[in-house]
Amino acid sequence: MLLIYCPYCEEERNELEFRNGGDAHIARPTNIADITDEEFEEYFFIRQNPKGLIYERWRHVHGCGKFFNAARDTVSDRFYLSYKAGEPKPDPATFLNNGNESALNKDKGASK
Ligand SMILES: [Zn+2]
Repeated sequence: MLLIYCPYCEEERNELEFRNGGDAHIARPTNIADITDEEFEEYFFIRQNPKGLIYERWRHVHGCGKFFNAARDTVSDRFYLSYKAGEPKPDPATFLNNGNESALNKDKGASK
């Protein structure tokens, strides 16, 4: 059983209470009516899908119902931390152990 920490309820709860909401920190273009179809496709559909560290939106559906963000390792499924929606993306150096974690994104910038 996977436990996920809800930053609003301030406790770890069973994964069955949560729903994944996709990548976090995806900024909506301010001029969305003026962008091309290709730019809209990039914003709306295209995701990196990295092996390792990812920042995701989650919702505590069967709890407080609120959205929050989490840093998770896609290989081990380990949650490093959760933080409230609207808070800035935390620096990985503040929660990873000296670079020996599998969460480090080894494919970063390798391909698109
Ligand atoms: Zn909650």
